Amino acid sequence: MQKQLEKHVKKPVRTISGVTPLTVVLKPRKCNHGTCIYCPGGEYVPQSYTDKSPAVMRALALGFDPYEQVKNRLNVLNAMGHPTDKIELIVLGGTFLQYDLEYQYWFIKRCFDAMNGKDAENLEEAKKINETAGHRCVAMCIENRPDNCSPEEIKRMLEFGATRVEIGVQMPDDEIYMKTNRGHTVQDVINATKNLKNAGFKLGYHMMPGLPGSNPKKDIELFKKIFDSSDFRPDQLKLYPCQVVKDSPLARTYKIIKYKPYTEKQTKEILKKMMALIPEYCRVMRMIREFPKEKMVKGLTKLDLRKDVEEEIRISGKKVNEIRMREVGFNSKNLNENLMLKTIEYDSSDGKEYFLEIVNDNGILFGLLRLRLTKGKEGRATIRELHIYGQTLNLGEHEKGVSQHKGLGKWLMEEAEKIAKEKKYEKIYVISGIGVREYYKNLGYKLDRPYMIKKLL
Ligand code: SF4
Repeated sequence: MQKQLEKHVKKPVRTISGVTPLTVVLKPRKCNHGTCIYCPGGEYVPQSYTDKSPAVMRALALGFDPYEQVKNRLNVLNAMGHPTDKIELIVLGGTFLQYDLEYQYWFIKRCFDAMNGKDAENLEEAKKINETAGHRCVAMCIENRPDNCSPEEIKRMLEFGATRVEIGVQMPDDEIYMKTNRGHTVQDVINATKNLKNAGFKLGYHMMPGLPGSNPKKDIELFKKIFDSSDFRPDQLKLYPCQVVKDSPLARTYKIIKYKPYTEKQTKEILKKMMALIPEYCRVMRMIREFPKEKMVKGLTKLDLRKDVEEEIRISGKKVNEIRMREVGFNSKNLNENLMLKTIEYDSSDGKEYFLEIVNDNGILFGLLRLRLTKGKEGRATIRELHIYGQTLNLGEHEKGVSQHKGLGKWLMEEAEKIAKEKKYEKIYVISGIGVREYYKNLGYKLDRPYMIKKLL
């Protein structure tokens, strides 16, 4: 479905873009199942990280205290002139949901306390204060394992105020999981994917080409499966080719098992092929883990390989559907403002996804929304993401045939509500960062913990 907009009026639009990421790191701890073969860390630094990563170095200096980490980071960001009114809190290190419960609740509450600038009695109060605080938590990301996404664990993540969950999928193959000591199965990935999407989370997969037991052909086949099968279809990806990193089991065994990571050339070829397979609804957040050279035993050391990959794709002129390469912020050309709203519909983990995007007639992306519709006893309509790009453009818009001026966010929300209503859903749910609740209240939504909801019928 497409709508055409008239020329814009020059009026800034209140959007939910312009979010500043703030990373907090958990205290070191080993994962319950042991250690995945490629994974460093775990004793003095959190598992999966090294003591040379900037966020870990900061956390080490502050004894991994969440309050101090957030406070310190806010001060630095302020001093550097970055906006700190809208924060995306990113919880890094090991598997958060495996820490003892008391630590989990304490950790998140202390992050909110630091953003609020005052200590609350409990997590609920801290979240309430944050709804109107100066540093609002508008999104929260938790890194997790596929086998830690049970309904109970999902409820807890919602209670924390999380909006995005990233799970390690690596390559969806039970044999590779065995060889790399992942300690879970492909079925766990399928279950986690469905549970997380049903709860409204934005879902990211970490994927690792070049693992022991794989090869370039197998990697591409398995990667294809991620989008061919409706059991997977993540919203985001981090593509981390396997490297041999100091202090990992692989560093001790790679010679014995005759393991060789991909060369730079092989890696680039694979990444280009993967990019060509990614559909419109998926964004590549990162390529290559940023392990410092001194921590590398074998494998890629070119940390900015993504630039080369994207440059080569651009030069080849091949069409790429992936989100990031189409975003307004990464495109300085073809910026006409003839905006239209496109809807892409696809099956996903026993539900229907409607991916709504606002693009100009050169395909440049200005905003997107993810609407999920499920049927059955617990069926419902859930908005899993609303994201507006290009806040610096001061776009205002005037929709043809409609007298009032509308923001892009509002335009997307209205379209999503229309679709849900046509499908006879009585209400619509939004998973909302704590600090975005006010935004949705202004659009007629009410808090029905942990979601914002609006009656449609
Ligand atoms: S689950 Fe993640 S953090 Fe834990 S050992 Fe495996 S890769 Fe490392």
